[in-house]
Amino acid sequence: MRYCSIRDRSVKVTFREAVSRGISSDMGLFMPERIPVMEPEFFRRLPGMTLPEIAFEVGLEYVGDEIPSGVLMTICEEAFNFPVELRKISAGKQVLELFHGPTAAFKDFGARFMSRCIKYFSGINDRRTVILVATSGDTGGAIASSFLGLEGIDVIILYPSGKVSKLQENQMTTMGQNITALEVEGTFDDCQAMTKSAFKKLETHGKIKLTSANSINIARLIPQSFYYYYAIGRAGSGQKVVSVPGGNFGNLTGAIMAWKSGLHIEHFIASTNINKVVPEYLRTGVYSPHTSIQTIASAMDVGNPGNFERMLYMFGKDRDTMASKVSGFWFDDDQIRQHIREEYERSGYILDPHGAVASLGLESYLKDHPGSTGIFVATAHPAKFRETVEPVIGTTVALPNTLKGFLQGKKESIVMAPDYGCLEGFLKDKYSL
Ligand SMILES: *Cc1c(COP(=O)(O)O)cnc(C)c1O
Repeated sequence: MRYCSIRDRSVKVTFREAVSRGISSDMGLFMPERIPVMEPEFFRRLPGMTLPEIAFEVGLEYVGDEIPSGVLMTICEEAFNFPVELRKISAGKQVLELFHGPTAAFKDFGARFMSRCIKYFSGINDRRTVILVATSGDTGGAIASSFLGLEGIDVIILYPSGKVSKLQENQMTTMGQNITALEVEGTFDDCQAMTKSAFKKLETHGKIKLTSANSINIARLIPQSFYYYYAIGRAGSGQKVVSVPGGNFGNLTGAIMAWKSGLHIEHFIASTNINKVVPEYLRTGVYSPHTSIQTIASAMDVGNPGNFERMLYMFGKDRDTMASKVSGFWFDDDQIRQHIREEYERSGYILDPHGAVASLGLESYLKDHPGSTGIFVATAHPAKFRETVEPVIGTTVALPNTLKGFLQGKKESIVMAPDYGCLEGFLKDKYSL
């Protein structure tokens, strides 16, 4: 399988290059040259397959012979070593829970698969792989956790001091081992500017190879299609509508890839908070990105979704084709809170704000399509957003064990001025560059 830049299809690279470069030199995102089509026989076996088994068979189509199949099987077993739950909430409505991984959010799927691909490729390298990430809070923990203990790889996370939640800070600063947290006395933008300069100046330097693990990496996208096969395989008879809560839209892009490979999905719902560029595009055909607006579904506060171009690309860059398969709905904070309360009172199910957006999107669609049934995707454990959820439902939400562990460890960080020189000094010192 070759990967091409969606800006210029003549730029073709291997999976390995697409993973290690992240983005093409023409600033285009990488996509597989073609979406592999799975055999009817694969779909017949689907209801009995585990997630790692599905991941292996689908992953093999994307990775080809660049990772030996035995290694790929181990990658899939290690990356997806936690449950995925599909639950029935009411007639015609099921929830796909993607928050049972180590950081209690769906980013674990992408991060854990990508980290193991990077580890495999770094073993072929003679340089030490250093993952350098700037985070405003959430991704740092998922990335740190996904690389924790992987040999030959260091992770260095920059986060803005005092601007992340206690739980988020603990996820980045208490793991130790190959994870180092740099606590920058500045903003997220400072952190991002510092890492960008480091990539410009030191990307391949001396004994290290700097690698970004950002959200547009193809090795984070591909695994975000695997759980859709799992869900549809177990969802029972009848075609299903799938509602996905969108921020950067990697999750929905993964779902669309699964459909293109032959998985039966009747229709997609792009559900957002008031950062509604994608629903607005589907309605009007005009794409107007903006700076992000803060909401209670904060992981979806994205004003210019990185994967929008990829989605459109899969529909031949044509809005009408896309709108015939994808509907968009958006909701404000009051609607999200009200829905969390109502669903709790109606069924006892506790939604987090992100899952609530997807659930609302599904209900809006089903109102106009009474014959359809659907699945909505819950991306975070409600305990991760307990400050929002608990007052709304009037009861406490128990922390899952995965999150409890993070509240105990001892914080270790290196405080740093918001200045590239300091970061360079740190890297030169650590790696004797
Ligand atoms: C990242 C995230 C989203 C948005 O996913 P995208 O793939 O960026 O659209 C939704 N919910 C939660 C909890 C997230 O962390």
